Amino acid sequence: MLRAALLYLSTKRQLGQAMDRLALTRRLVRRFVAGTTADEAFAVIGRMQNTGLLSAITYLGENVRTGAEARRAAEVYLDLLDEIKRRNLHCVASLKLTHLGLDLSEALCRENLERVLDRSQAAGERCWIDMESSAYTERTLALYDSVRPRYPNAACVIQAYLRRSEDDLRRLLRLGATIRLCKGAYREPPQLAFPTKREVDDSYGRLLDLLLSSEALAAGVYPAFATHDEPLIWRAARRAGDLRIPPEKFEIQMLYGIRHDLHARIRARGLRVRVLVPFGEEWYGYFVRRLAERPANLLFLLKNLLRG
Ligand SMILES: Cc1cc2nc3c(=O)[nH]c(=O)nc-3n(C[C@H](O)[C@H](O)[C@H](O)COP(=O)(O)OP(=O)(O)OC[C@H]3O[C@@H](n4cnc5c(N)ncnc54)[C@H](O)[C@@H]3O)c2cc1C
Repeated sequence: MLRAALLYLSTKRQLGQAMDRLALTRRLVRRFVAGTTADEAFAVIGRMQNTGLLSAITYLGENVRTGAEARRAAEVYLDLLDEIKRRNLHCVASLKLTHLGLDLSEALCRENLERVLDRSQAAGERCWIDMESSAYTERTLALYDSVRPRYPNAACVIQAYLRRSEDDLRRLLRLGATIRLCKGAYREPPQLAFPTKREVDDSYGRLLDLLLSSEALAAGVYPAFATHDEPLIWRAARRAGDLRIPPEKFEIQMLYGIRHDLHARIRARGLRVRVLVPFGEEWYGYFVRRLAERPANLLFLLKNLLRG
């Protein structure tokens, strides 16, 4: 119930403007968001790189309303990629298609996406196309399919909570795609998504096994397991070990601000860890989705608000 209510609120941007005025909210937001500027994000990424972590950078924003905003988002990603190269960082971009204009026009979104993919490819890096709510699943996968032949560096996301995901994954496996597996962060109806944590975790486990198989790797698949769920992370590590899949053939991905205590332990097993570092003024939707994942975050916020 609480999760559903928070996910509903995550679509109400006006609330973000009100919340932004509260110093406490800004403090809690900073737990999950590196800052409002790219420099702040790069400072975090540089520190993480010194401890052996890989990173992905996200310029926060989604569902833009004008072509100018969509083009501006693409420009920011191009500047970020130039800066990553200049600073010699092991960092890739992770972006949302509705930030690049998918709600406005597919042609505009594709044009923006191809510019970013082009620049990432020139740098020899992958570029992750995040998966948004189920209203976008089909269009996101279709766009991914159509750009992939020209941009093998394009990487896509499968959400374990969606009932359709096993079919989508099997198709992507045959293509030898680069695939991030996450649980899924949006409000979805039970016809489309498994409603209980147990079912979502089971689905994640099944899809993880498919991604870490000799057949998938022979097809050229590069899997990324995006989760903070320890049993699932160790399941990936064990399975890779059992199948003698070398650590450079897959990675574990985590979000900035969540379970940093796990980074060193995962790296000690010889595995690659990539942390997704978001920054920007448009933190609201991203932040409320983080609250929805863990009600304790919301209780902390409320307790401190009441204390004044
Ligand atoms: C790198 C990365 C990329 C992602 N990309 C996408 C995407 O493209 N599309 C999409 O729909 N979703 C995406 N997600 C979000 C994902 O779908 C989940 O909503 C999120 O990762 C929480 O699920 P979990 O796998 O960590 O498991 P959970 O079962 O939710 O959590 C496992 C444990 O992790 C910790 N934890 C999890 N979330 C929080 C939190 N917010 N605050 C504090 N502790 C927490 C807790 O200890 C919890 O017990 C991404 C996640 C990651 C890590």
